[in-house]
Amino acid sequence: MKNKQKALSREQERILRAQERAEGNPPPHLVSFSIPELVESIRKQHFPKLEDTIAWYFVMRGPLACIRRRENDGGVCIFVHQILNHADTPVEVMSYVIKHQLLHTEVPRWAVSWWSDAHPPMFWDWEKKACPERDRAWDWIWANLSSWLKRPRKGRMTVRPNWKESWEQTRWTLEECEKIAHHHGGANLGGTGW
Ligand SMILES: [Zn+2]
Repeated sequence: MKNKQKALSREQERILRAQERAEGNPPPHLVSFSIPELVESIRKQHFPKLEDTIAWYFVMRGPLACIRRRENDGGVCIFVHQILNHADTPVEVMSYVIKHQLLHTEVPRWAVSWWSDAHPPMFWDWEKKACPERDRAWDWIWANLSSWLKRPRKGRMTVRPNWKESWEQTRWTLEECEKIAHHHGGANLGGTGW
């Protein structure tokens, strides 16, 4: 690897371009609740020391959600895949996604030999405590979206390029998903890394 920049895979470059497009021309929010209000209430309750601006964008490509620091003002930017930009997405799913992403601002990556783990054990401990909605959120995500998700490696959950097909499908409610999960002995994949 001669140059780190060049080492970015083509897919990573596409994801970065999609994020830039989302920042330049943010798609309208189709969810049934206010994301800025949700973000601020989560900040107040769980991240009172976080003073940075928190920008939020739905993005067409890449992971289910990710967070990065902006170079210009040091604020944080949360990118959530468009697959969740849907009137049927429950507020519990989004609050879980926001808490998970903001937690990355507080828990440093763990250096493990030649790679680093973004989700060390203390990350999952905190997540479990702060997210009573976590298991229900994962039940909903798996029941509705698993056909369009893949885990290319540990600690990452990406959305398949054919995700738009998911719009043609009626989405189960949280309550329905809970029943399905119980029927199958509990999907409960929370904490598996994404
Ligand atoms: Zn994460």
